[in-house]
Amino acid sequence: MHILKCPSCMLYGLKETCACGSVRVRVKPAKYSPEDKYADYRRKAKQDVGRQDV
Ligand SMILES: [Zn+2]
Repeated sequence: MHILKCPSCMLYGLKETCACGSVRVRVKPAKYSPEDKYADYRRKAKQDVGRQDV
């Protein structure tokens, strides 16, 4: 699953087009992070997706 992020309103989603009309960009995966410092971002993104448009 690829999480996309809108560069305009900074909201996450799975659709390429944001509700604001901007094109979302793919968020880079945290391959080389042993402590997984992006885990919190992923959780937040998942919550945002749930609240938004998917
Ligand atoms: Zn947006």
